[in-house]
Amino acid sequence: MTSETMPVEQARKVLGDLVIRASLHGKTTVLTRYGQPVAQIAPYTQEQHMPEHTTATAWPPGVYARYLTVGGATVDLRRGHVPAPYVNTCTGCGENDLSYGPHEEGYSPEDEAAYAEREARTAAQAHAETCRAMPAPQER
Ligand SMILES: [Zn+2]
Repeated sequence: MTSETMPVEQARKVLGDLVIRASLHGKTTVLTRYGQPVAQIAPYTQEQHMPEHTTATAWPPGVYARYLTVGGATVDLRRGHVPAPYVNTCTGCGENDLSYGPHEEGYSPEDEAAYAEREARTAAQAHAETCRAMPAPQER
């Protein structure tokens, strides 16, 4: 990859050209202020914007759905045992959430399980949207 440096003041006047240089020609322009690099205009790549751990590591055994939290951890959804057929575990804060079926008249065992799964997914999604706990470092 070729890179070139340019003072921010100069780059301001040719921003469109620098974007074309990056997007069409794959070239990076390093922007400088008082001679020091401060930013860069580089080609956009999908990989840079994917959280690493979602692709780099396999899911733990038994996990069949996973939600990425705002803190970069995951909420892992596993099948549990009756009376809580679904279990969510947050790898950030460690919270466990058990999902039960409605336990009301008129629900077949299949309906109970489907209800509990919907409840588990909704809870996992809600936790993922609010939990800011970061995942603990992995031992290698
Ligand atoms: Zn959490």
